[in-house]
Amino acid sequence: MKNKWKIRTIISLLLVFMVSFLMIGCEIEGDISDRKNTKENNLTVSFIDVGQADSILIQCGNETMLIDAGNNDDGKIVENHLKKMNVSKIDYLVGTHPHEDHIGPLDYVIDNFKIGTVYMPKKTATTKTFKDVVNSLNKKGLKPIAPKVGDTFNIGSAKATIIAPAEDYKDANESSIVIKIQYEDTSFLFAGDAETLSENDMLKSGTDLSADVLKLAHHGSRTSSSDKFLDKVNPKYAIISCEKNNDYGHPHIETINKMKNRNIIVHRTDEEGTIIATSDGKNISFDKNNGTYNEGAKVNLEQNDEKDIEADSISENKNENDMKVYFTEKGKSYHLDKDCSSLKNSKNILMGTLKEAKDKGKSDPCDRCAL
Ligand SMILES: [Zn+2]
Ligand SMILES: [Zn+2]
Ligand SMILES: [Zn+2]
Repeated sequence: MKNKWKIRTIISLLLVFMVSFLMIGCEIEGDISDRKNTKENNLTVSFIDVGQADSILIQCGNETMLIDAGNNDDGKIVENHLKKMNVSKIDYLVGTHPHEDHIGPLDYVIDNFKIGTVYMPKKTATTKTFKDVVNSLNKKGLKPIAPKVGDTFNIGSAKATIIAPAEDYKDANESSIVIKIQYEDTSFLFAGDAETLSENDMLKSGTDLSADVLKLAHHGSRTSSSDKFLDKVNPKYAIISCEKNNDYGHPHIETINKMKNRNIIVHRTDEEGTIIATSDGKNISFDKNNGTYNEGAKVNLEQNDEKDIEADSISENKNENDMKVYFTEKGKSYHLDKDCSSLKNSKNILMGTLKEAKDKGKSDPCDRCAL
């Protein structure tokens, strides 16, 4: 009798154990499939259509990062998109560099959302836009951090790594914060307005630059996205954030041809509006059809009224003054080509904007390379 009772007890204990084990098994399985199915556990990247500017929202798990916020007038657009995506707190706010088309309404965003960590480069500006941002940061007691290359942090289960700037470059675009995000097997590289100088330093750093999606630097300008850089990033997709018929002709034909020749699929806000990319950790999908390989439209002056022509020539002048030129300490002219034959005998070739060159009295365009 005693033995029979013992065996029964053992059998029933075993049964209880097996049943509960099966139940735990089910629960684990349920957990995994839930995780695969719920949107919150994907990585979602919104390239918000803010015209000739950048604003990118990254969401993973319950955490968010906002990279840039468009031009000064775009505060509401960014706010509306964040609300649509159920964002009330921005865990990481990044102002890539102090140009208006990137930090324009950062003050508005700081005033209207809960903000965690703020990343901005060392570079400052004397503009009202920049001062507004500083004021809003001060009001909330927020201190921006200038991140270092190699710094990492997590957005949900995605890993963010700072890729640039390697130093405080003279040029604001070059000083852009560049961030790579790895989510399981998929990756994104957000290149701000970084140009060739910073690209070369990124290449030198030996960091793994490869990414499935590259937010093309500087709105698809020819001054960024060098072949060497594209070789290393080797993206499947390129995102261009720019406005239709913008003053700069972005994306430039040189850049768009590189995309075409490399069979990189292009998505662009000037054609598609706001673009949302979703990664499930293995694959990346887009909510819009692919963009075209058309270069940015050249503005046809004859079709514009006088006021537009005036505005165009002002912005063209502004662009021209920002143009990179080469000159020497003693020379009177400026050069567009660093390898210009008239510079052959000069040991110390200086570089600066056209405005800087003119301010130094180098106002003659070189007749070999600058006419
Ligand atoms: Zn810029
Ligand atoms: Zn820009
Ligand atoms: Zn020259």
